Amino acid sequence: LARNPGEIEFHQAVDEVFESLGPVMDRHPEFVEAAVLERLCEPERQIIFRVPWTDDSGKVQINRGFRVEYNSALGPYKGGLRFHPSVYLGIVKFLGFEQIFKNALTGMPIGGGKGGSDFDPRGRSDAEVMRFCQSFMTELYRHIGEYTDVPAGDIGVGGREIGYLFGQYKRITNRYESGVLTGKGLSWGGSLVRPEATGYGTVLFANEMAKTRGRSIEGRRVVVSGSGNVAIYAIAKAQQLGAQVVACSDSSGYVVDEDGIDLDLLRQVKEVERGRLKDYALRRGSAVAYVEGGSVWDVDAEVALPCATQNELGETAAVRLVKAGVKVVAEGANMPSTPEAVAVFQKAGVLFGPGKAANAGGVATSALEMQQNASRDSWTFEHTEERLSEIMVGIHDRCAATAEEYGQPGNYVLGANIAGFVKVAKAMLAQGLI
Ligand code: NDP
Repeated sequence: LARNPGEIEFHQAVDEVFESLGPVMDRHPEFVEAAVLERLCEPERQIIFRVPWTDDSGKVQINRGFRVEYNSALGPYKGGLRFHPSVYLGIVKFLGFEQIFKNALTGMPIGGGKGGSDFDPRGRSDAEVMRFCQSFMTELYRHIGEYTDVPAGDIGVGGREIGYLFGQYKRITNRYESGVLTGKGLSWGGSLVRPEATGYGTVLFANEMAKTRGRSIEGRRVVVSGSGNVAIYAIAKAQQLGAQVVACSDSSGYVVDEDGIDLDLLRQVKEVERGRLKDYALRRGSAVAYVEGGSVWDVDAEVALPCATQNELGETAAVRLVKAGVKVVAEGANMPSTPEAVAVFQKAGVLFGPGKAANAGGVATSALEMQQNASRDSWTFEHTEERLSEIMVGIHDRCAATAEEYGQPGNYVLGANIAGFVKVAKAMLAQGLI
């Protein structure tokens, strides 16, 4: 704590993992001897840099850029870039830390990293976003590469931003190095299913959890928070599996659409027009309720999918959801439930899938994109989705088996933390004191 003052989210993420690890350290004294936990508290490398750019009025703007290259025991650093005004080192480190274990759980050869900037793309023109991305990459390019560090998208970084970043990387290095970024457009090295992967994967994970109690999510009432990339494709997959998704949100409010969210309209408003949920509600008319402010967790749900941001679902919301009969919670976002909320869910016997397991489908499909880039191949939607599906079932089963092995069946938090950690710790030991 003293070494990383004020980095609240980072402390929270480390505490959450370390709390699960007591029994592992008892079984593996070699991890203690090699100071694996102490090493994991310190990223391998942290880069902080100035990002100067000019806005459309010609005014100079200065933002701060970050890349935390956290752990490369299993492969090149891999993790997204987040552009949001709340970004500071504590957020990037928490995300990078989580990413290590998430990536390990996927079974793919990727290490953990994360980056971003306090730049806010909202309300900025395409030209401003491009100039920002070009300036950001003008520093970042020297730290990344197919075999070194492979960034992707996260909050505020989608296909448009990845395009500008890739273009600038190519221009500076004079290399068409497809494997340096993932989340690329389809015609220039991207993978089918990557845009859908995190949301789809979250719902597949929720469904696997539900099946352990004998009933899938078909026919269930679902509430999703957020209306960005993860939320949209979580809604899509839940609907495909026959669930009724009745609400979603953005940072201004939420909509309740008892007939089921109109996915085509939502995509039009959010992906094409870059509009707000309020616009969706206006277009849907009297069929839906739009609530300005407030919490989407006030809406009753049997399945809750938090897909917006960290610490968006607190204890009060968790208690309310439990009272309303929630049975399954799967985190599409990273650490959206506070520790108090997780405790409420677990005490009530709710099936709770933590983000590092439930949302790992995104990074897993990024690794599939890297495979396609390396082999100069492109796979069909069906084949890629099949791979995603196998990976999510594999992650679910690994977490469940590990929880059982450590005497806490059904505790996916424990299962995910231990399964991810042991894999990384063994690799760190094998590679010596680095
Ligand atoms: P987007 O930027 O596409 O969407 C984010 C959504 O969350 C928007 O609806 C946004 O609303 C809302 N949101 C963001 N910050 C806040 C906040 N402080 N309070 C309330 N709502 C907020 O991001 P993604 O969908 O890509 O990411 C969502 C979450 O999923 C993040 O936690 C991310 O780390 C995680 N994740 C993403 C992956 C991916 O592949 N994209 C992979 C794994 C995890 P508004 O528009 O009003 O800001």
